[in-house]
Amino acid sequence: TVNIDFTGDTRILTVSNQKGGVGKTTSAVNVASALAGLGAKVLVIDLDPQGNASTALGVPHNADTPSVYDVLIDDVPLADIVQQSPEDKNLFCAPSTIHLAGAEIELVAQVAREHRLRRALDAYLVDSPMDFVIIDCPPSLGLLTINAFTAASEVFIPIQCEYYALEGLSQLLGSIQMIQKHLNPGLHLSTILLTMFDGRTRLAQQVADEVRTHFPDQVLDTVIPRSVRVSEAPSFGQTVIAYDGQSAGAVAYREAAVEIASRTATQSKEK
Ligand code: ADP
Ligand code: MG
Repeated sequence: TVNIDFTGDTRILTVSNQKGGVGKTTSAVNVASALAGLGAKVLVIDLDPQGNASTALGVPHNADTPSVYDVLIDDVPLADIVQQSPEDKNLFCAPSTIHLAGAEIELVAQVAREHRLRRALDAYLVDSPMDFVIIDCPPSLGLLTINAFTAASEVFIPIQCEYYALEGLSQLLGSIQMIQKHLNPGLHLSTILLTMFDGRTRLAQQVADEVRTHFPDQVLDTVIPRSVRVSEAPSFGQTVIAYDGQSAGAVAYREAAVEIASRTATQSKEK
């Protein structure tokens, strides 16, 4: 059993990687659910118009559902749109809807367009303190992702252990530096998680070794194995933690959550 103290400041992590299909959403919802299982209060903000995080957390998000779109574009308070996940009383979701697809364009004309999520979140946390906020980003470096970078203090990058894993990473690191310089000096890369790992291939091991060499302090010891249970869970409106808590994927995501929680916000800042 683990005893973790969640009395510090809210840790705000943005799960980012401009490649699609690398495990961003899967990692966001499963780490969030596992953290909630450890006793933390966790809000997931679904910033991807696809709404996969909302689906996996069992939260309705049809076209009429009040969503992050209303927060970013129409100044609706986050408190008005946040829903509790049926999975855990400590787990909450700010859902995305298809309307968010238009937000990328509509934000361009907005006042303080890069800061809209940060402002909404600051106001929300006053009355609804959270231990963790986890933002699931779309696979692009547009204004939605920039809003996430501006609102967060930590960047969490899932990396799929495959051939071109590191390609594009320098672009992402460049974007983080640009955000640090112009919008959010406190932003830093705190966490890298190797996902969909298949230990039977030499390639997966090589990619893992290479990432660890480049980012020794950020890469979690835990590696997420490729597992059918992980990919099945969302179609039941669940994370794998709820869907099959004994499966290898669920065990790994719980271990990853313990590692993340054990690094205090200060520790992860020093890295
Ligand atoms: P992203 O959000 O980066 O686009 P997803 O989290 O949606 O990526 O994952 C892409 C696909 O891979 C999804 O179909 C998901 O179910 C599947 N997937 C993610 N992690 C695993 C895993 N550990 N094992 C098997 N399938 C996985
Ligand atoms: Mg996704």
